[in-house]
Amino acid sequence: MRLAVLKERRPGEARVAVTPETVKKLTGLGLTVAVETGAGEGASIPDAEFAAAGAEIAPDPAAALAGAGIVFCVRAPLGPGEGDVDQLSAIPHGALLVGTLNVWEDPGRVKAYAERGIDACAMELLPRITRAQSMDVLSSQANLAGYRAVIEAAMEYGRSFPMMMTAAGTVAPASVFVIGAGVAGLQAIATARRLGARVSATDVRPAAKEEIRSLGATFVGVETEETRTAQTAGGYAKEMSEEFRRRQAELMAETVKKQDILICTALTMGRTAPKIISAEMVAAMKPGSVIVDIAADAGGNCALTKPGERVVTPNGVSILGWRNWPGRIPVAASALYARNLLTFLTAFWDKEAKRPNLKPEDEIVQGVALTRGGAVVHPQFADKTAAAA
Ligand code: NAD
Repeated sequence: MRLAVLKERRPGEARVAVTPETVKKLTGLGLTVAVETGAGEGASIPDAEFAAAGAEIAPDPAAALAGAGIVFCVRAPLGPGEGDVDQLSAIPHGALLVGTLNVWEDPGRVKAYAERGIDACAMELLPRITRAQSMDVLSSQANLAGYRAVIEAAMEYGRSFPMMMTAAGTVAPASVFVIGAGVAGLQAIATARRLGARVSATDVRPAAKEEIRSLGATFVGVETEETRTAQTAGGYAKEMSEEFRRRQAELMAETVKKQDILICTALTMGRTAPKIISAEMVAAMKPGSVIVDIAADAGGNCALTKPGERVVTPNGVSILGWRNWPGRIPVAASALYARNLLTFLTAFWDKEAKRPNLKPEDEIVQGVALTRGGAVVHPQFADKTAAAA
């Protein structure tokens, strides 16, 4: 069976869905791996390294996809009119497509996969269960995003993170406040601590408080009856009530004005990011402060974030609202992402038949499978696509 890997063509996407290491293992399963020329460029992997690992280098998307039974991607393939190449229409009927397909933002695409007979698996929907941890693309990518956010904050900040006692005087340590202590936020806390900053953090899920403390940071948060049940069965935060948001805003207003750096990572699965930092709070911050909003792809946690841009406010606060934070550390992000996809495929690989066998009754398959045999099978999207129709 042939597995095709396309060059990612969405703006700013530097990652790739396989590495030479995973190509070797995929060929070991009995697959022929076809990689489009230049697919690894953004992640510093030349064609020659893919070829040395056993991949066939295809000159264009059509050549890579011809006869493919499996397609690996980082982001959803471009459809008709979305770019210079229509990747979607070139995917053969019956192929298994695996990637982060961004279906919450673009549920209409699910129907397009079904109409083309593509069996699509959206890895961002993977259940947060122990067995799925090594396939968890959200975790592997968020962890790197959290690290990268702090490094970019340190670059943007005109002072230092650690306290420095020098003959010319003492430089105070930076105060870093991390909003949202999930995978990205916890890595941001750890990274800021390693750089010597004073770190505090907030979250709504009760478990986060101890996790924040265990990393040596201070917990700052509103704790109410509502926060006791603020975590869904899937491990995600719930959308909070109006009353909670009001109390959180009061606490944030007090906390934020004392900070040098804010790292915003708060998300609620499938919804726009909660707005936690208002324009007034930013106006009360010191000149030279930095806000890094990794929630920018979901609209951002700060009211002044412009997704995809760096903004400097009239009072001199820089807000980095870049999209796709994992894509800003593409070599490491590709290595982990490629292993996540390899683990997923290997877990559902029929060694005898040398083909995938995604058992519909498996909890992981039920979580990620959008379409099968021309029909939308994911309950959440079956409703949405019916509504769109
Ligand atoms: P996420 O990216 O959905 O959200 C980031 C953080 O923002 C979360 O900690 C969330 O509680 C917080 N948040 C949301 N709304 C907020 C608000 N209004 N104010 C403050 N904070 C807010 O989360 P994630 O990083 O994907 O992690 C989600 C959960 O999944 C966590 O419980 C994590 O420990 C768990 N997890 C489990 C596994 C596993 O067992 N396989 C793997 C990864 C993550």
